[in-house]
Formats: sequence, C-alpha cells, structure tokens
Amino acid sequence: MRAPRSVPLLAILALLPCVRAAETGGGLPPTPSRAWVQALFDSWRAPVPPRHLGGNLYYVGASGVSAWLITTPAGHILLDTGFEDTVPIIVRGVEQLGFKVTDIRLILSSHAHIDHTGGHALMKRTTGAEVVASAADARVLESGGADDFLVWPKDTLLYAPVPVDRIIADGDTVTLGGTTLTAHLTPGHTRGATTWTMELADGGRSYQVVFFSSASINAGTRLLGNAAYPGIVADLEQTLATLKALPCDLYLAPHGGQFAMADKFARLDRGEGVAALVDPAGWRELIAGAERSFRDQLAREQALAQP
Ligand SMILES: [Zn+2]
Repeated sequence: MRAPRSVPLLAILALLPCVRAAETGGGLPPTPSRAWVQALFDSWRAPVPPRHLGGNLYYVGASGVSAWLITTPAGHILLDTGFEDTVPIIVRGVEQLGFKVTDIRLILSSHAHIDHTGGHALMKRTTGAEVVASAADARVLESGGADDFLVWPKDTLLYAPVPVDRIIADGDTVTLGGTTLTAHLTPGHTRGATTWTMELADGGRSYQVVFFSSASINAGTRLLGNAAYPGIVADLEQTLATLKALPCDLYLAPHGGQFAMADKFARLDRGEGVAALVDPAGWRELIAGAERSFRDQLAREQALAQP
C-alpha cells in the first residue's frame, strides 16, 4: 500500500488552530472567519488509503479527519464519520479492506463537531447502524450542530441532524461480537466529548488503546464568564485528570496531527506492525500540551479580568 500523504502542516493546524488565527488583546485568539474555517476543513478532506493497524482495528478516515473501524464476527463498530462529503472515503476504505459497510452495527464518536460527526446521518442511512453518544453530544447531533457553544460562524458548524439510539454515561461499555469499548466522558472541547478505550489483541499480546476525544479550546471560546458553557473550566480540569489516569499503550485521535499519523503509518507500511503505534510517551506529551494550553489561556483571561 502506498504511504499516506505527508501532513506536517495538518499536524500543526489540528493541534493549534488558535495559532493560525491572528491573536488579539491579551493573547487570546479571536473568533475565526468563515474563510479560515473552510480552509482548515478543506485541508483535511483528501483521501488516504485505508489501513490495518493491528488485531481487529483499521483506519478508514480521510487525510485529516480520522475514522476507526473495529471489526467483529457480529458486525462492526465505526468510531467517527468525518464530514458528510468524506463518507465515501470511509465506504470505499471499508470495502477495500474486504468488509461490508452494511455490516457496521454501531456508530460512535469522539465529539460532536461537523468534522467528526457530520457524516453520521449519511452513514446511518447507508448502514442502518445505531448511533451511540453521550447525552450532551446527543443534543448537538440531534440539532445538527446548532446546539453548540462555539462562536464560529454558525453555518460552518451545521450538518445533517441524526437521531441518537443509545445514550452512554461515564464508564458505560459498548460490546459487539466479543469486543468491548469503554466510554470515558471528557467534556470541554464539546460538552459531551467522549474518550473511548479498548483492549486490542495482536500477535499474542494485548494493548490498551485510547481513542482521544480532543481536549483543546477552539479559537474564540472563552473560559471565564462563558454564559453558553459556564462549567467549561471545571469540566476541563476533570477531563485532564481523567485522561492522565487512563492506561495507554497506543493512542489514536480525531485528527492525524494529534497522534503523528504520517510517521506512524509510514512505519506501519515498513512492516513494523502494531509496534509502530505504541507510544505511551507521546500520549503523556499530548495531554501535557493540552494542559499547558488550558492553563495558559486561563491565566491570560484571569489577567485580563483584573481591574
Ligand atoms: Zn472538534
């Protein structure tokens, strides 16, 4: 299989959207423009080849928005669907890997933003699968992105609404065909952001896999005095504590740039197997970086709030 497109720029964009927007008073990133959002989203839409990662886990996403296929004898689980217009990449990928799209039984998500759940409605129609989400993200999914606290231009956030079939709470599990995923509610990036974990069996070994929800603060979002999301600071504090406590051998994330996808997939292509993905130090660095960004923005907002 050919190597994925190199995405160093995407890596930077995925992790640091605020850096791309010109900073304003107090170093706080402003609300991005419609053109900026569209350029960011468009940079993530290119196709990449699907991949077997290890055990029953596969990548079927686009260049900059992930989608994970977990196969079982009783049907398959799909985690994230990308944008509506990148759903064909997932469908093609599943088929190229030798599976049937109509065998997808469950659709999960990392968090209810258009770049990860914009394809949910189309994928549900295509497969008849059940949509599983946290209560807070279910409200966003069922409103098609309207019930979102982000201050980005509203039309950039909207997508086809999708009914949610099953609500999961913190610690709930989803089991299909002998594979179990556990939901860890990690709110802040969205109110219902969910980090999923599973055990991956490969080559006689077992690996703790973490599917990161994201924990960044989108440009324009304020931590203090945020009337649309008064609990955002407390939620992010709790989320960081939850994420730090998760056992993790290998982590995956909604955007390739968050888990060094280009490097890791290149190593997979060189035949290193699942070892190419094992990166507990990278996980700790990712969470440490998220915490630094959070504390830095909080300190800036507190300084601005001083009389
Ligand atoms: Zn997001």
